[in-house]
Formats: sequence, structure tokens, C-alpha cells
Amino acid sequence: MKKSLMLVFTLVILWMGDAGAEESDGFHVKERTKRQIPKTVTVTTILEQPFVMMADSGVLEGYCVDLLSELAEALEFNYTLHVVKDGRYGAKDPHGVWNGMVGEIIRKEVDLAVAPLTITAVRENEISFTKPFVQTGIGILLKKETPSEGSYLFGFLNPFSKELWIGIIISYVITSLCLFLVGRLSPCEWAEPSNERNQYTLLNSLWFGMGAFTLQGVEPQPKSASARIIAVIWWLFSITLLAAYIASFASYVTNAKEQTPNIQTFDDLLKQSKISFGTLANSSTFNFFKNSKNPTFRMIYEYMDKRKDEVLVKSFSEGVQRVRESNYAFLGESISQDFVVAKHCDLVRIPEIIAGRGYGIAASLDSPLIRPLSIAILEQFESGNLEYLRQKWWENTCTAEEAHADWVPIQPHTLGGIFLILGIGLALALMVSFIEVVCKSKSKAAQQKKSCCSAFSEEIGQRFGRTENQESLEKVQP
Ligand code: GLU
Repeated sequence: MKKSLMLVFTLVILWMGDAGAEESDGFHVKERTKRQIPKTVTVTTILEQPFVMMADSGVLEGYCVDLLSELAEALEFNYTLHVVKDGRYGAKDPHGVWNGMVGEIIRKEVDLAVAPLTITAVRENEISFTKPFVQTGIGILLKKETPSEGSYLFGFLNPFSKELWIGIIISYVITSLCLFLVGRLSPCEWAEPSNERNQYTLLNSLWFGMGAFTLQGVEPQPKSASARIIAVIWWLFSITLLAAYIASFASYVTNAKEQTPNIQTFDDLLKQSKISFGTLANSSTFNFFKNSKNPTFRMIYEYMDKRKDEVLVKSFSEGVQRVRESNYAFLGESISQDFVVAKHCDLVRIPEIIAGRGYGIAASLDSPLIRPLSIAILEQFESGNLEYLRQKWWENTCTAEEAHADWVPIQPHTLGGIFLILGIGLALALMVSFIEVVCKSKSKAAQQKKSCCSAFSEEIGQRFGRTENQESLEKVQP
């Protein structure tokens, strides 16, 4: 009796010690779970860049291979790795039999699948997944557009947006009109308004404005303060525009080889007919569109289902090749697309990403491997090792091109300040010319003993009625 009591007591002490250690120290969790792992684990995978790739030496390498070796080291197991025989991720065939890596796990041909295998509800029903080691979503992979001959021909117009060109033309016309008005009003521009010919005709004013754009000092040169204000403001405006145009044109020419395509969303895909689109046959992406209730995604599924043989591809690399060689958009997992975009500068992924999902390591439903692997994945994540692997395998070799991909024509708001200064300058010049003509009228009124108003209206009449008088004068004295 005493002996059995001692035994129970010892067992309770041991159990308490174990439980306490589990709570206080993660190492014991690992030790206990480690013991459940077989010494040699068989692993299946699939060739997909950069997760698993065949090096020139015939050895497998990539993100998943590195991850597997880290996990094997942490959990102290050996492994044998092979590529899935049928080259598929895993889907049910029409007879309800699973193929691909999922099939190999269900048939217990392997212990684990370490691959870019998406965690989905149907798969989770048949096999177990660890916590995800990569988060991703569905994106669209496209080829950058090469501008047509026509767009090169008028490419010189591209540095400025349409709105900015319209703004410049309007500013030019208004400035020329103001110059014409000021030239007429300002007494300094007339030695003798009643018989002198004024140089600021409408045509001359337009000509003067154009001269500034081409950096040519054209006649007539302004004499009055008001006309000089307009000239200075207009020169400043023209120089700023020229500098902006030259900078933007240089950037456009460098970037003109390839431009971001017009398709920016999944809706845009449906709205056009030039580019066909598809995805990997029997993939989780295809099933996402198939099961979606969203009208846009449903239409995408119907489109792909109708043209199954033409638009569905057998492997990720086949999809990438089709994008590069034909008018084809590849719908697939954004993380893999980001890799090819980082390697092939002629490709681009649209910013919109749908259907967040993750990749997990898969094992059979009752596998004791899942829990230790999940813990080890979390440890890898928390230590920053997953981030390190991500940077290692997704290294961008397209940095220079990427910088140019963001090129856009200059918009009016970028040069808003210079338009504002021009407006203020024109208003100021009109005011000064008005003051000039008022001062002139005042002195004339004092000289000729007239009222200020009649002197003013006479001045204005002489300046604006000049054209007919001048014409009749010119007819008499050619
Ligand atoms: N990772 C996917 C799968 O497990 C394949 C790629 C895709 O769905 O786009 O089926």
C-alpha cells in the first residue's frame, strides 16, 4: 500500500514537472514532439520557380528546399525528396480519385509535401496542413505593352497630359489677348495715339507669345511697364514649361519601349477582347473562380470553362511562356508572379490581388508530423528566417526598369503654381495699364481743361478706334 502510494506520488510529481516545463520553456515542447517524428521522412514536391528548381548539377534547390532543410535541422530528422510523378498539385479526377502531391499523401506513398501547395477546404478534408509558411493571393500576370508606330509618331506630345496641353493653349491665347489689350491701353506704347501705328496688333501679340516658347526674342519689344510685366511673366512661364517638357520627354523616351498595360483590374480583363486569359488547369486558382459567387469572377470562370483547351495551361512555366509570347494574361498566385516579374523585365503583375490564401506543408490526416512542423514554421517566422529566405529567392533584377515603369505624363496640377503666377501677372499688368491710361487722361484733362471722364473716354476711343482710322490714313498715304 505504502509502495503504491509512493509510486502515484512520484508519477504526479513527474507529470507536474513536465507540465510546468512545457509552459515555461518552449524547448520541452519541441523535445516531446520531436520524439514523434520518424528518423527518415519521405517528401514530395513540385517544380515551380523559385520554390523548387532543378539546378544545372541536377540537385533540387529553392525556397522550399531551404525551408525543408531548416525544418529537418530544427526537428532532427533526415529526409528524401522527390518531384511528384504526375507533375500536379492535387485535385480530384472525375472518378473521385486524388492526383498530384495530395494523391501521393492520401495513398501514403510519402510522409510530407513541401511545395507551393495551397491550403483549401477540400484538401483540408482529406489531408492535414501545417500553419502557412507563405501568404499569397490571386493576381494577373501580363506582358508590358509595346507602343504602336502611331504612338511613337506623335510621342512628342506625350510628356504633357491632354489637360495640360489644353491649359497651355488657353494660357497662350489669354496672354496674347492681354498683351494686345495692354499694348493698346498703355500710353507708353503710343507716342501719338491719333495718328501713330500701334505695334501690338492681335497677330503681333500672338507672334510675341510664340517667340518666347522657342526662346527667340521676337519683335515688337514692349516699352510700357504693363507690357513688360506680361513679357517677363510669360518668359518665366515658357522657360518652366520647356524645362518640364525636356525632363519628361527624356524620361518618356527611355521608357517608351514598354509601358504598363491598360488592364488594372479583373473587371478590365472582361471588358476587352484583345487579350485572352486563363490559369493552371485543376488548380486552386481555377477552383476559386469556379466556386465564386462574385459576378465578375463567375464570368471569368465561364470564359475559361468555355475555352478550356485554349486558355488553361499545364504548368506555371507554360503560363509564363504564353504571356511572354502571345496576347495572353495568366491568372495565378501573386507570389509566383512576383518572382517572374522580378526576373523578366517585360512582364508585369497588376496591383489588384484577390482571394488571400496560404501555402502549408501537407501530411496525411493522422500524421504526428503536423504539430511539430507547425511549431517549427512559427519559429522560423518569428526568427525572421522566412523573411530572409523570401529576400534570397525573390531578388529583383529589374530595378532600373521598374523605376521607369511608373512614368506618367506631367499633369496640370504639377505645374499649377506657374499657371497661378501667370494669372496674377496678367491681372497686375492689366491694372497697371489701366492706371497708366487714367494718369494720362488726368494730365490731358488738366491741360485741355476737360473733365477727367471725357478725357478718359477720348483716350480709350483713340486707342481702340485706331484700326479704321489707321486704315483710312494708310489708304490716303500709302
Ligand atoms: N498552388 C496552387 C495549388 O496548390 C497551384 C497554383 C494555382 O492555383 O494558381 O493548386
